[in-house]
Amino acid sequence: MFAQELVLRHRTEILHTLCSSGSPEHLERVLDILLAHRELVWEDYQNVRVPGRALYTNARQLLDLVYTKSEDTCVLFLSAVKQVLPAAQGVVFSIPRCSSSQDEKEEVQSTSVETLLTRRPSLVCKLQGCIDGALDALVASGHFSSQDCDEVKLPINTPSQQARCLLDHVRSKGESAATVILKYIQQRQKSGFLLKQEELTPPKEFLKYQKKMSSSMSAQSCFLSTYGGTSHISLHDIYTEVQLDLPHNSVDVHKPLGLKDIVSLVGTVNNEADTVLVSGEAGCGKSTLLQRLHLLWAQGADLQDFLLLFPFSCRRLNSEHRELSVQELLFQHCCWPDREQEEIFQFILDHPHLMLFTFDGLDELKQSFSDEHRLCCPTQRAPVHVLLFNLIQGSLMKGVRKVITSRPEAVGPCLKKHLRKEVFLNGFSPTGIDCFVRKHHSDPAVAVKVLESLRANTTLLGLCHSPVLCWIVSQCHKELLGCGEGSPQTITDIYLMILQHFFQHQSPLQSSTGVGWLQENLQTVLHLGHLAFKGIANTCYIFSGTDLETSGVTEKDICMGFLMQSKGMSPTNSKRYEFLHVTMQCFLAAFYVVLSSNSDRSTIPKLFKLQDMKDTGLSGTCFSACLHSTDQQQQVLDSEAAAAEMPNLQIMATFVSGLLSQSHQSLLLHCCSSAVVERKGRQVARCLSKGMQKHFRSIPKPVQGEKKSMHAMPGFVWLIKCIYEMQESRIAKDAMSKLEVDHLKLTYCNIGPVECTALAYVLQHLKNPVGLQLDNNSVGDVGVEQLLPCMQTCNSLYLRNNNITDEGIRKLIAVVIQCENFQKIALFNNKLTDACTQYFSHLLKTRQDFLSLRLGNNNITAEGAKQLAEGLKCNKSLQFLGLWGNKIGDAGAEALASALENSKSLVWLSLVGNGVGSAGACALSNIIWNSTSLEELWLTENCITRTGVESLIQALKHNAHVKSVWLKNNDLSLEEVEEMKQCESRLIF
Ligand code: ADP
Repeated sequence: MFAQELVLRHRTEILHTLCSSGSPEHLERVLDILLAHRELVWEDYQNVRVPGRALYTNARQLLDLVYTKSEDTCVLFLSAVKQVLPAAQGVVFSIPRCSSSQDEKEEVQSTSVETLLTRRPSLVCKLQGCIDGALDALVASGHFSSQDCDEVKLPINTPSQQARCLLDHVRSKGESAATVILKYIQQRQKSGFLLKQEELTPPKEFLKYQKKMSSSMSAQSCFLSTYGGTSHISLHDIYTEVQLDLPHNSVDVHKPLGLKDIVSLVGTVNNEADTVLVSGEAGCGKSTLLQRLHLLWAQGADLQDFLLLFPFSCRRLNSEHRELSVQELLFQHCCWPDREQEEIFQFILDHPHLMLFTFDGLDELKQSFSDEHRLCCPTQRAPVHVLLFNLIQGSLMKGVRKVITSRPEAVGPCLKKHLRKEVFLNGFSPTGIDCFVRKHHSDPAVAVKVLESLRANTTLLGLCHSPVLCWIVSQCHKELLGCGEGSPQTITDIYLMILQHFFQHQSPLQSSTGVGWLQENLQTVLHLGHLAFKGIANTCYIFSGTDLETSGVTEKDICMGFLMQSKGMSPTNSKRYEFLHVTMQCFLAAFYVVLSSNSDRSTIPKLFKLQDMKDTGLSGTCFSACLHSTDQQQQVLDSEAAAAEMPNLQIMATFVSGLLSQSHQSLLLHCCSSAVVERKGRQVARCLSKGMQKHFRSIPKPVQGEKKSMHAMPGFVWLIKCIYEMQESRIAKDAMSKLEVDHLKLTYCNIGPVECTALAYVLQHLKNPVGLQLDNNSVGDVGVEQLLPCMQTCNSLYLRNNNITDEGIRKLIAVVIQCENFQKIALFNNKLTDACTQYFSHLLKTRQDFLSLRLGNNNITAEGAKQLAEGLKCNKSLQFLGLWGNKIGDAGAEALASALENSKSLVWLSLVGNGVGSAGACALSNIIWNSTSLEELWLTENCITRTGVESLIQALKHNAHVKSVWLKNNDLSLEEVEEMKQCESRLIF
């Protein structure tokens, strides 16, 4: 298809590609390239880029323009889009790359003004880091006035927009201004881009301030708060590496991410944005990770590119009710400069790229993120959340690098569009757990015992991926080692263990066994529970002395260790407290719901109906409103305080389910009447059943001929986890008896090992086998192991992008080989190597009803292909074999071809992108020659030459059954492609 036609036909797609991020940057970069190639003249540029006009309108104008210009312009345009957005799919991919950019070509420019145009893309890039210097040079040479400088440096402009604005101004000033700027850039390059730091001579007071900041930060971050009560372990000694991952669709990054990568270029999706989001579930280690960053910076061990680091806690910012300017925010909430505040602040403003701000727990901020209220002026006062949102967007203090942490639920599309990148924090890896336990126990013999008992209980091991649970388990090692067979299975079990542990720690003489311990501490649990519950209903995580008093919390209760004094509150504040961890607050709040005689009959149903409220747009605030009927002390809520509630209420509901499970009834019966406990238990079971049914009712009727499929909504996994906590197979069975689908899709649902345990517990009760699709989660090897109990109810398993290694496959195959329904597996983009192919080979040999094996984008070489071939030789059922993006080469293709040449079942084979040459293609021709079943052969992106294709053509002459052989991007000239197409229409180039 001609480029002009492509531009017309794919107009919507191109517009979306250019504009969907909401930032004009992509469009502007395309314009830069078109200008540089002289496909657009200056007037065209101005017609397209009308300031203040909607981005989409500007983009449409450009599309009209390039379409009417010429075929060549369209070719260049599409190529520019591809250059700017290499990840863009579809139309832009199908266009050949345009010749090198004008910038790289050797050419003779007649004037400096013209050079500004032809080198525009690279000049924009180069100028971004030195706008100030460039402006100084232009002012010094008399070409720029201070008004010109102000226009260029408008705070609303991103660095690249500032660079473009500067170039446009220079252009309007004429030839000698253009010469000055070109010279400036040339000189800067010659001097080797003097390091930022070297150019700087920060004022003396700034250096003192820096010192003060680092020493107070070092003191504040050297201990972990969870270790405050019982033991003092320094962060340095206990910190264990966590798993950091980029989104599944981001560019290939083969190394595991380290802490430094949070602020490095890796995984950047929006160069113009300054905010990095670290997201993860409660307890996965977000605050600890930031604490580690702070400590490394403060001790000069890392992140030394930043001169200052301002740490904020959103939890603490909630208690700031004054309107503040950014300056006040920085100085009053982080570190106070003893002298020369203005000078220091000016230095910060002048060097934003040398500053780092961290905001911990955006999900705990009372207000949800919004970018409606714009603020650009750093001296203007505004409510703290408005400052925070403008800092995140970059409308305030553009260039300052920000790292925010949040639970995933609180991150909506409105925030995502302002992100430089998102990094997922997925807790500890299996080696991380090992390492943490060894660090936690100074006695290596104890560590070994704890690890042994974890290995003996893989469910518990799965839970330990969450650092907070790993910490509890390690902390309670005595209880753990003492409980033998009855070791914890659920999250509730683990929290009960720490509860008992803390009580025991304070009063060692109390009942250490049996169920009496709760009764002995009932008042403490109720007081703390009330405080926790009120806090969650009001999005409050920091409590004053009065709050404690209102809930009846006494000194003795405080001493138990569940509450700790808030760090980092301003010295003028009286003592404030917070729970050791938010999950502990949720747990105690759940205890209150279960034990309190105050809560009315509607509390539990309301708690479980939250999901409906969320779906119908009502907020979780309704829940706190409903509490007012039973608790008159509640403050009337700020109506915005909803965003933070939902995840905590969900965790609380999960604990309520767990506490009301049969297995804990004997514990509760000593503390409240059995009738009440049973009633509440029945209420929870009913809510769970109703909740599940609601999900099932939303399943659309299948299109005729297609399978009935359910795509899980976010609340589905939560309900499954609640059912798991109840540990009653009757409830799980009842829930699953009503699920009638062929395919269950749980993609992008944050499923890790913990969720896998719950899923397997519930799904094993399915009446009919399903296809279970878990693509794009973080299942990992431990999660795979957790899933094993439900494999007999799966006919297919999709685990694309899930960090699975050969070891996970070993365990999986050992089980599925015996599951008679199991017929398909897809493992695209995991961490598989040749070592896993022996297991698949065994599967293929053993199971003569296995249908589909997809192993694309792993690390399988010719050796692995040879192993697979061993299994394929003996298999009579396989229909689909996918090895896209491995490295099997000619030798691998030959082995597979010889194993498959007599196959009567193979329908589809993909060896795309495997370094297969003509030798491999000739071997594969034999399959075509003989096969009566093969329909499609995919050989795109290999290195097949004419010889190979001729062999395929010969084979196709004997086979009318094959529908297509895909050969795009192989080693063939355009003429050869044309010629081959004429010979055989089923070859697709
Ligand atoms: P989040 O902020 O995601 O809720 P936290 O950072 O508060 O989680 O972690 C909860 C607890 O888990 C910490 O107090 C600490 O005991 C433990 N923990 C978390 N991350 C780590 C880590 N990297 N190394 C050691 N312990 C950790």
